[in-house]
Order: sequence, then structure tokens, then C-alpha cells
Amino acid sequence: MLIQKLPIDVIKLIAAGEVIDSLTAVVRELAENSLDAGAGRIVISLKPELWMIQVADNGKGMDRDDLLLCTQAHTTSKIRDTKDLHHINTLGFRGEALHSIAQLADVKIASRVADDCGYQVFCHDNHCSTITPVAIAPGTIITVENLFRNILLRRQATPPFKQQIKQIQILIGQLALCHPHVTWQLFVDDKLMLYINGNEQIKKVFSQLSKTINYNDLTYQQITVNTPTENNNSSLDIVLGLPDRLSRPRPDWVKIGLNGRVVKSPELESAIYSAFHRTLGRDRFPVIFIHLRTSPQQIDWNRHPAKAEIYLHNIDFWQEQIKSAINNIFRITDNNINQQIENKRVENIFKVAENQTLYQIEKQEIKQPQEKALGLIDLQVIAQSRNTYIVTEHSQGMWLIEQHIAHERILYEQLQDNWQLIPLPQPIILENLLPKQLEQLINLQLDIESFGENLWAVRNIPEMLAQRDDTQDALMELSWGADVDSAMVAVACRSAIRNGTKLTINQMQDIVDTWKMTRNPHTCPHGRPIYLSLEESSLYRFFRRHWVLGKSHGI
Ligand code: ADP
Ligand code: MG
Repeated sequence: MLIQKLPIDVIKLIAAGEVIDSLTAVVRELAENSLDAGAGRIVISLKPELWMIQVADNGKGMDRDDLLLCTQAHTTSKIRDTKDLHHINTLGFRGEALHSIAQLADVKIASRVADDCGYQVFCHDNHCSTITPVAIAPGTIITVENLFRNILLRRQATPPFKQQIKQIQILIGQLALCHPHVTWQLFVDDKLMLYINGNEQIKKVFSQLSKTINYNDLTYQQITVNTPTENNNSSLDIVLGLPDRLSRPRPDWVKIGLNGRVVKSPELESAIYSAFHRTLGRDRFPVIFIHLRTSPQQIDWNRHPAKAEIYLHNIDFWQEQIKSAINNIFRITDNNINQQIENKRVENIFKVAENQTLYQIEKQEIKQPQEKALGLIDLQVIAQSRNTYIVTEHSQGMWLIEQHIAHERILYEQLQDNWQLIPLPQPIILENLLPKQLEQLINLQLDIESFGENLWAVRNIPEMLAQRDDTQDALMELSWGADVDSAMVAVACRSAIRNGTKLTINQMQDIVDTWKMTRNPHTCPHGRPIYLSLEESSLYRFFRRHWVLGKSHGI
């Protein structure tokens, strides 16, 4: 007989190694336990050379009996029977992690519930020492030493320490986004590597995670969603970098959280990208985090062993919800106008202007004028500057709007809603088309046919181009595009009012009124910002109105 049943200790070791495969896995499991225990502060200390990890929290702690049980196989306080499997509201529920860690390392657990003294227990070689009282604050401190002491090969297989520490920092960042009220500290060899100050406002956590992300360039919205299959309230928390102010050269800040964990979901990511379509410049990616909270029955965590990838039921529904939520944020409405006006870029312009003056002025704190609800935003056109900028004012400041791209945004969205081809009274003759160009024109549903050697006759044209006298050039431009969408961008750009064109106040007011109602007024379809807001609060500071010199200055 070749087949034998494995001894139980080998089975256990293999199973443990599947749950815990690195320092990062230990940190993930312990930190998730701390979150499940309701901690508001989590301190993680690593000594990689010693294969040591400690996680201390101020959560609800474990009492004496639970402390004795928690490292045994399949012990959990989070579910009791099969029924509970459908209602899991915690990150853990399998009761495997502490047991697995205790198989692979020396573990010390000290814990205290609020109304008792603290206790601690040591586990070594599967045996837990007797339990002894210990003086600690309410919460739990778990110290793991000599990880993988019994499978040394595993130590060699894990990535270099530097890489694991990086992974742990990323992991903490992800958990912080999903649990913004929690304060985190990470020490490596007693050196503080990461400190995230918990805050109810997720935007404040976001900006702590990257120096390049400015708080004022983010917008936050929470949306309640009724899922179609169940009568439960799901929600989407969205933090998003306003596209005219914040974007990245890589998709490293496109993140999705699901019920408390950052996950990979190619389907939901593609919904985000399609909502940002023609909003950012070429090869730029959004800064966005969407935290979706829904009933656990909607989720299948078994796409990936570390629960990093998921299957979500009703994925089409969620894709639509995400797209429309993002589109709503882009709109300038009376509800979100206040979020639009604090602009970092303008602050920088003022800084440059200040630096150019002959003397340096110390930065002073100024009192922001009271922000009152704006009501329906009323952008009043007051002038045109350089035949290019529409100067508008509203009750809290003024905006400069570039006429060409504002109009281009309007036309682009009109084309998206209604791409119409109309017949031409006279065909337009094109010559020397490459097969690729011909194919693109046919894709655009143009009525095109051969008209002799290297000549083609086009008998219809996008409506917006019909009245122009450069239709031939316009068609050639369309033939070079990649798809219908790029054709729409090209048509919008060609048809929009050029910069340098003189406009009347009424014409400009029409453009501004239509533009502010577009789906995405922030950027043109190439990703350029459309308006510059000069708010009274910034102007107040720039003109040093807080210096209060006397009545003669008109203050
Ligand atoms: P699970 O998280 O799947 O329940 P674990 O093995 O990770 O399984 O933990 C076992 C149990 O130990 C948990 O259900 C919980 O009751 C308790 N526990 C673990 N860590 C903590 C902690 N930091 N604070 C309070 N209780 C804890
Ligand atoms: Mg757990």
C-alpha cells in the first residue's frame, strides 16, 4: 500500500500554513480581529529579523474563559450555526487564524475586558500555559514570536522583509480607508513607520495616506441604495478627487472596499473607469475610493483565499449605481457647490504672485467668511476677457470660464445623447483614404462609396458639421479617429466656439447656463479644466483685507 493517512500534526501544520503564509498574513488576521473587537486604536510592532509581530488594541477584550479557548481549532465568537453564516457582519468568522498562528509560532495573548482584571496565556508547541493575571488596560495585546520556527523553508519562501513591510503598510492603509475612525501606528524595530490619525471624516484619512492628495481637492458623498433582491439598505461611500484638480499617472488610487475590506473587483473598477470616461487627460487615472456596504448574502468571498477578490451578486446593478453616483458628484448643484470652490490651484497662483512681490509677507491665518448656503448657483456673466475668458460672478466670488472648452463640453454631451447623421445635398469627395480610414468612416455609419480611382463620395455627415465650410477636413479628421467616441470629441472640438471670438453677454450667458448643467462641467473631453474659481475668501486674503488699516482704504 502506498497511500497512508497523514499524522494529525502534519495535517494541522499544512492547514495552518495555508492560512498564514507571511508576516503580512499575521498582521492582517490580528488587525482584523482588533477591528472586529471594536478597537479605536491599533498599534502594530514588527521585528522582522526575529519573526516577531505584536498587535495591541483597545477593543472589547476577552475574558478568562475565552482566552483559554481562542487558540483552539475552529473556535469563534462570531457565528454559532449555519444560519449565522448568512448574516456575518464581522471580518472573521472561521475561527482559524489564532489557532493557525499558534501552530506556527510562540504566542502570548494578554487581554482584559472592561469590568475584570487582565489575564495572559502563553502558547508554545500547541500547549497553552496556565493562565495568569496581568496588569493591562482594557483591550488585547497579541505577541507572535518565532513565526515559522517549525517550517523554516517557509521563511525562505516569503518575500524579502522590505517588501513585506511595504505590503503591511499598504494593508494598513486599506484597512484605514474602510475604518476611518481607527487610529493606526506601525513600528518596525521600534521605529515609527506609519501613523494614521483616525477621523470620522474619511477625506481626512485619505489625505494622510498620500502626500500628493490634498484634502480640499477631494469630495465625499454617502449614498443609500435599495438593492433589487432584498429589502435591505445598502450604501456607497465615495471619496473622489475632483477631476480638474487631481489625477494620477497610474491606476494606484482606484480602490474598492466591500463590507470593511479593500477588494479587487475588475467589474466594479471598469464601472469607475467608464464613469470617468472623457473626464481625465490621456493616460491619467482617477483618485477614488468606493466603499460598498451590503448584505453579506450578496457576496461570495471565495474567489481568492485571502478574500482579496470577490464575486458580488447583481453585479450589473452595482455597476450602474456606481456610474450614476459618480456622475451625480460631477454635476455642479446647489448641494455640492461649496465643495467646488476651495481650490488648491488658485491658492498656488496666489502664492506665486506673493513670491513675486518685493517683500515677503508672513502667512497669516485669516478668518474664512461665513459660508452660507448658496441656493441655486447663479453665475452672472459680466464680461469677456481677451475674447477667450467668460468672466462670471456669483454671491461668493468669481469664475473665469474658458469659452472654447466650456462649449466643447456642451457639444460633446449633446452628441453623446444624439449622434445624428444627416444627408448632404452634394456628396463630399475624399481622396487617398487608407483602408484603416475607410473602415473608421464606415464604422461611423457614414454613407460612403467608391467614386473612381482613389476617390470616395460621402453622402451624409454628423449634423453639427453640416453647415461648416471645412467639411472635407472634418471628415478626414474623423477618419483618423479610433471609434465613435473619438469622433464625437473631434466634432465637438471643431464645432465649438474658438477662443479669440468676440461674444455678446447674452451669448456667453447661454453658454454658461447650459455648461453648468452638463453632466461633467469640470473638464473638457480631453481632460483640461474648464473654469478657474476665484473665491472671495482667497481674494480677501490676497488683498490683505485683514490688515484693517483704516477707513480710507475702503474697508
Ligand atoms: P475569527 O476571527 O474567525 O473568529 P480567530 O481565530 O481570528 O477567529 O479568533 C478567535 C476568537 O478570538 C475570535 O472569534 C474572538 O472572539 C477572539 N479574539 C481574537 N482576537 C481578539 C481581539 N483582538 N480582541 C477580542 N477578541 C479577540
Ligand atoms: Mg479572525
